[in-house]
Amino acid sequence: MVDLVKKVEQQQRCETDINEKNVEYPDENLPQNIIAFAADDSTFETQQVCLKMFCGTLAITDQIIRTAHSKLDSCGITSSDNRGKHLNHPKKIDDEMIRSVCDHVKSFQPVESHYTRKNTTEQISRLRASQSPLAISLSRCPQWSSLDTLQFKGYWDNEVNGILLNNGSTAYFTFESEVRPILRGGPLIGEYVFEQMHFHWSVDDFSGCEHLLDGQGYAAECHFVHYNSKYESMEAAVGHPDGLAVVGFLLEAVDAPNPRFDRLVEGFERIKKSEQSVRVTSESLSWMDSDDLQEGNYVTYKGSLTTPPYTECVTWIIYEKPVHIGTEQLGLLRQLEGPDSIPIERNVRPTQRHPPGHSVIYVKQVKSKL
Ligand SMILES: [Zn+2]
Repeated sequence: MVDLVKKVEQQQRCETDINEKNVEYPDENLPQNIIAFAADDSTFETQQVCLKMFCGTLAITDQIIRTAHSKLDSCGITSSDNRGKHLNHPKKIDDEMIRSVCDHVKSFQPVESHYTRKNTTEQISRLRASQSPLAISLSRCPQWSSLDTLQFKGYWDNEVNGILLNNGSTAYFTFESEVRPILRGGPLIGEYVFEQMHFHWSVDDFSGCEHLLDGQGYAAECHFVHYNSKYESMEAAVGHPDGLAVVGFLLEAVDAPNPRFDRLVEGFERIKKSEQSVRVTSESLSWMDSDDLQEGNYVTYKGSLTTPPYTECVTWIIYEKPVHIGTEQLGLLRQLEGPDSIPIERNVRPTQRHPPGHSVIYVKQVKSKL
C-alpha cells in the first residue's frame, strides 16, 4: 500500500497516467519508521525512505497508510503470508483499486516536506493562473518556508536618476538608465528586470488597495513591475505566462508622516497635472525596510495584469505587512489629476474570482544567514 501511495505521488508530480501496476511490499525486516518502495518499474529496485517524511509529503498519517494496507489485505489482493518473501516478484493491483487510492490521496492537501522542497519554484511556475487582484484568506493558503530569500538588487543603492510621471491614471516611476534593478529568488525562476513602479488608490483609507488579505482593506497599493530577463523587453514578456513579476505593497494610512516617503511625496507635488513629470533620485524607492523585504511573509500566485488587457502573465508577490504612509502624504497622491483635470478618485480593479483549482501560496521567509 505504501508503495502504491508513493506511486500515486509520483504520478501526480509527473502528471502522467499510471500504466505500471507492479508494486513491491514493505520488507518486514526494515525498522518501523522506514518504508520501501519500488523506485523504478523497469528494474524493481527497492529504495528505503523515511515513513514520517513520506507521510508528511501527502499530509496523511501513517495510521491511514496502515489502515489502507490492512484493507488491501482484506480485499484478498495481497497475501500477507508472502510479504517480504517475494521481493523480486511484483504483484498486480487492479485499475479500480488504483483509481480509488488516487482519489483518496488527491483529497489531501500537499504540505511542504523533504520531497516537495526541491520542486517548489517549479510547482509555482506550473500553477494555474487567475485574473487579478484577489481577496486572499491566509489561513486557507498552503504555507511554505523553504523558498530562497527574495533578493532586491540595485533599487535604491545606486546613483541613477529616475522619472516620476503622472500618466493620467497613476503616478509612475521609471529609471532613466539602461542599468536596471534586478529581482530574483522566492518563487521566481531566473532574474526579473525592474521596469516601473506605480500606485493604486481610492477616496478612502480602506478601498485603495487591489489585493485583500483576510478581508483587510488599505488606503493604497504600490506595484513594482518587473519582466523576465529571458525576454527582450517588457512588451515581449507580456505575451508569456512567466513574463512578469509584480511585487505589491499594501499602504496603511496613519496620522504621522513616514519620512521614508518624503522624496517621493515631493515628486507628487510637482506632477499634479496629467502628463507632468519630474526627475527624482532612486532614493524615492527606499521606503521599504530591507529587513522586511528579506524576512517579511508574502503570498504568491499566478495572476494577471490588473489593467487592460488583463493578460495572465504575472507572478504576484504581495507582502503581508503593510507599509505606513501619512494621511497628508496620501492626500497628495489623491490630488493627482487625470486628463480631464479632475483628481483621479479611484484606480483600483475589483477583486476577481478564484478559478477552481487555483492556488495561492503563503510564504514564510526564513531569516537569511548572510
Ligand atoms: Zn498595478
